[in-house]
Amino acid sequence: MNFEVSDKMKTIIGMITEFTDKELIPMEQDFLSKPLNSLIPEIERKRNLVKQMELWAPNHPKEYGGMGLDLVEHALVSEALGRSPLGHFVFGCQAPDAGNIEILNMFGTKEQKEQYLRPLVDGKIRSCFSMTEVDMPGSNPVMLETTAVKEGNNYIINGQKWYSSSADGADFAIVMAVTNPEAPPYLRASMIIVPTNTPGFNLVRNISVMGHAGEGYFSHAEILYQSCRVPQKNLLGPEGQGFVIAQERLGPGRIHHCMRWIGICNRVFDLMCARAMHREISAGKTLSTKQIIQSWIAESAAEIQAARLMVLHAAWMIEKVGASSARKEISLIKFMVAGVMQKVIDRALQVHGGLGMTDDTIISFFYRHERAARIYDGADEVHKISVAKRILKEYEGKKIK
Ligand SMILES: Cc1cc2nc3c(=O)[nH]c(=O)nc-3n(C[C@H](O)[C@H](O)[C@H](O)COP(=O)(O)OP(=O)(O)OC[C@H]3O[C@@H](n4cnc5c(N)ncnc54)[C@H](O)[C@@H]3O)c2cc1C
Repeated sequence: MNFEVSDKMKTIIGMITEFTDKELIPMEQDFLSKPLNSLIPEIERKRNLVKQMELWAPNHPKEYGGMGLDLVEHALVSEALGRSPLGHFVFGCQAPDAGNIEILNMFGTKEQKEQYLRPLVDGKIRSCFSMTEVDMPGSNPVMLETTAVKEGNNYIINGQKWYSSSADGADFAIVMAVTNPEAPPYLRASMIIVPTNTPGFNLVRNISVMGHAGEGYFSHAEILYQSCRVPQKNLLGPEGQGFVIAQERLGPGRIHHCMRWIGICNRVFDLMCARAMHREISAGKTLSTKQIIQSWIAESAAEIQAARLMVLHAAWMIEKVGASSARKEISLIKFMVAGVMQKVIDRALQVHGGLGMTDDTIISFFYRHERAARIYDGADEVHKISVAKRILKEYEGKKIK
């Protein structure tokens, strides 16, 4: 087994880390205290710098202007970028665009690729993924209520979605809607590209999440599709294959998220250790001399290391045997890494005391923003049930002494 990182990747990671430290982390105080819109010119300037350094869109196809890194390589990139909330966005590999790029590349028609994929990879436009509904359980998406009914050459879409992340300012949504209500549950829904300027696409609000409605890329929208009419050529992939395509999107997407979370762990771990070393808690004694703090540091280091190796292994499995055969590994990392991140952020916040609750450090942003990691892309419980079923199946008919 070879754990060595190639020279090419060492160089790339070194450049990304230096850029994040010099260009992105110093922007975070403004990011936390000013409207996002006021920062867009500066963010665009940084994005251009990244393009000049030829580090733009690391995981996206070379043909469309990306670097074409493989999944294990991009996992390392995602870890390095995860240290700042601005990282993925400034390097052009942010969710949900990254997932949409993947499925457009795999299933899009030539015309869809030119119209949507090319400018999306280039960072000229943004997109969102609109599947979850207000009144239906996201954990069981076959219960979707949104419909897309054929009329002439069009689909007429009706439904109420929410948590369509980054819809505010997006140019198009990929909408999951029922097109074949009589088919078996997993063959009922399709993905349809809906430009956000289509009449009947109504962004109702950016939902307030943990006290923040956010804006632009950093927001989650409720959307009413009211007789929203799009041409049938906007169907993405075959009709009725929405869930099959969604699975393609989720496997690699979980690697990106999990390594981003490891990056977050690394960042708050650094902050925790630095604070422990400098915070005097009694005459001549810093927090770092207290065994309970040392124990948190040791436990965090072990948990981050274990989680990191699990994700890299899952990425390697996807590369070797495909996402479908690596489903157990993907589910394992999804709940494991989300839980490790939550614990590590919580410890870092605790070590900072009152300061940890403020927006004077990035920790509280991560604390409220990343709680969602245990819910989206499959809630913890759903992944645990799926893993347990797979494991138990291996014991069917086996007698073990
Ligand atoms: C920050 C954030 C961003 C998101 N971005 C997007 C997006 O861009 N596009 C999009 O379409 N959706 C998005 N979502 C929605 C997300 O996919 C759903 O919230 C998720 O699938 C869970 O669905 P739900 O909220 O309807 O919860 P429910 O399905 O109602 O489940 C509620 C809870 O029940 C438990 N549970 C569920 N199933 C089981 C079970 N079988 N056994 C035991 N317990 C169970 C879990 O604890 C779960 O959290 C986002 C959500 C968040 C929080």
